[in-house]
Amino acid sequence: MDATLVIRGGLVLDAAHFLGPADILVRNGRIIEVGPPGMAAPDGAELIDASRRLLHPGLVNAHTHGHGNLGKSLGDRWTLELLLAAGPWIGGFDGNEEKRLSATIGAAEMVLKGCTAVYDLFVEFPGPSVEGMTAVAEAYQAVGMRAVVAPMVADLTLYEAIPGLADAVPPGTAQAPLQDWTATAASLRTILRDWRFDRDWVRPALAPTIPIHCRDPFLEACRDLAAEFGTGLHSHLAESKVQAVVGKERYGRSLAAHMDALGLIGPQFTAAHGVWLDAEDMALLGGKGASVAHNPASNMRLGNGVADMAGMLAAGVNVGIGTDAATCSDNLNMYGSMHFAAASSHSRGPDPAKWVTNREVLEAATIGSARVLGFEHIGRIAPGFAADIVFLDLDAPTLIPLNEPVNQLVMGEDGTSVDSVMIGGRFVVRERKLLTVDLPRLAAQAAQARERMEARNAGRRSNFECVAPIVADFCPALAARPWHINRWCGC
Ligand SMILES: [Zn+2]
Repeated sequence: MDATLVIRGGLVLDAAHFLGPADILVRNGRIIEVGPPGMAAPDGAELIDASRRLLHPGLVNAHTHGHGNLGKSLGDRWTLELLLAAGPWIGGFDGNEEKRLSATIGAAEMVLKGCTAVYDLFVEFPGPSVEGMTAVAEAYQAVGMRAVVAPMVADLTLYEAIPGLADAVPPGTAQAPLQDWTATAASLRTILRDWRFDRDWVRPALAPTIPIHCRDPFLEACRDLAAEFGTGLHSHLAESKVQAVVGKERYGRSLAAHMDALGLIGPQFTAAHGVWLDAEDMALLGGKGASVAHNPASNMRLGNGVADMAGMLAAGVNVGIGTDAATCSDNLNMYGSMHFAAASSHSRGPDPAKWVTNREVLEAATIGSARVLGFEHIGRIAPGFAADIVFLDLDAPTLIPLNEPVNQLVMGEDGTSVDSVMIGGRFVVRERKLLTVDLPRLAAQAAQARERMEARNAGRRSNFECVAPIVADFCPALAARPWHINRWCGC
């Protein structure tokens, strides 16, 4: 984009640092200068009035699933394992246009709620494809937001991953085996090799979904592909207590220790959730420069618990904030995720010294998440960074009066103050209108897709309804077993 802009008259938050009144010079989508109000503008620069606006860097969603948007809010009282059991029903797409549609719904919601970049772990069956990932990448490109698109892959079903579960459900109801991991790894290689999108905007990564759902040679193949192509690796690590228990019994060590022994943990690695990481796991992740994508809304919704974000930060882990999917946290509202990150930290106990601060939460949702995505040029309003800027309306009730911007952004804002959103120097949302998507048309397409999916997946739904009571009993019983690794005796 070849254009020079001066954004005048706003109050500026550079991540969690409140600068007060400042003007912003933008050229070709990048911030050149953040200066005093009324600073000189180059000849020909477009002037953008930001009076009565609080400007903050676009929020960065460190973890979602674009395939979940057509299956939004289908379940109540679902644990993670029930959600996974429902996967074939709620995520059964037919063709790439449904994948594009699903990703577009999420992207539209995110930008309207002040989020300008996302890490999307998108699953396809029977395996990832160039065409499917291209449709997802094009969806983000068309909406005008940045994304890391990571094919989410596994080679073991829930019923193979959890010992005894396949035998506990009626014959013929367990999910059929997945395709061989070597075929999946070959597809991943093709996707990475043929990636044709501008990596400043949409880049690929790899998401071996959950360690216990992947055989070790498959995890190692993902590790090698990530190293060869210089991409991120993102996996759900110790999300549920069931996973922590099964991991201990299968590997004889923690999930994090096992991933480390296989060579997956490093600066390119993101552990999603990390609810059941212990102090040594956190020290391991922090020491290796790894990240955690903290998804507090989903952790609570699925009964997984409250992750120790303050403990992670103290251990030197880079923490980003995510919404997780619309199937398990219902909306993709990063303001809500920040609120949950702060409030759930408080819920861990009465000692405020052990809580995260609102400043830490806002930094995690901007700078921390940007590092999770591997996008070094986003997350701040500062020279050299991309002009990904959210304009909040200071005449919106949530911000009347403006007492303490960081606290109000993290604890009070719910997206209703978002007036405009600029990404790479271009308005994607202006005066509360999304400029890149025809929302009524999107809604009509989604309604049609929903009807098709309901008819197509009726058998999978009844299968889920058959296994659900068994999974709902079996997994909590499994989770009652000891999970903590006794590192002295190895038991
Ligand atoms: Zn997830």
